[in-house]
Amino acid sequence: MHKLKEVISEQEIQERVKELGKEISQVYQNEPLVVICTLKGAFLFFSDLVRQISCPHEVDFVRVASYGNSGSSSQTIAFTKDIELNVEGKHVLIVEDIIDTGLTMEFLLHQLGARKAKSIKVATLISKKARREKSIPIDFVGFYINDGFIVGYGLDYAEKYRSLPSINEVEI
Ligand code: 5GP
Repeated sequence: MHKLKEVISEQEIQERVKELGKEISQVYQNEPLVVICTLKGAFLFFSDLVRQISCPHEVDFVRVASYGNSGSSSQTIAFTKDIELNVEGKHVLIVEDIIDTGLTMEFLLHQLGARKAKSIKVATLISKKARREKSIPIDFVGFYINDGFIVGYGLDYAEKYRSLPSINEVEI
């Protein structure tokens, strides 16, 4: 067991997710929308968020893996699970757990950007700026943190802690 320090409470998360859901619903209204969950880390944020999106939408899932030196531009990123829906002519909202260096989101924007979607926007639970290498346009941000390794609410440390309802920093 690691020592964990709560940095964002369950209540704060749920309130912020409600606000984001409202904002997102206002943006898309009755336009065709596909909301994409990036597995595994975004699964709880995604499932809470889509229940707060009141406009009609479809859901789909992607999973990417990165190989090589983590957090460096020599990293290779690839799909281990692609989306299944055709997004041509529809708006796409990618839902991510955390944007750190930005390499993963750059890959997703590049890949999904080639599929003739009407627009692509990004929602992230957390934006962590200290190690950002790629400037990513983020349309909806839950919370900003500076640095530190966080777990809970979908985020793991070696597959542990994903089901915690709050966000916690691992004290190493
Ligand atoms: P990026 O490609 O932006 O550097 O990294 C994105 C991925 O790195 C996230 O989807 C997440 O899986 C992982 N990551 C980055 N920072 C953290 C963190 O503080 N905690 C956890 N659990 N994962 C992180």
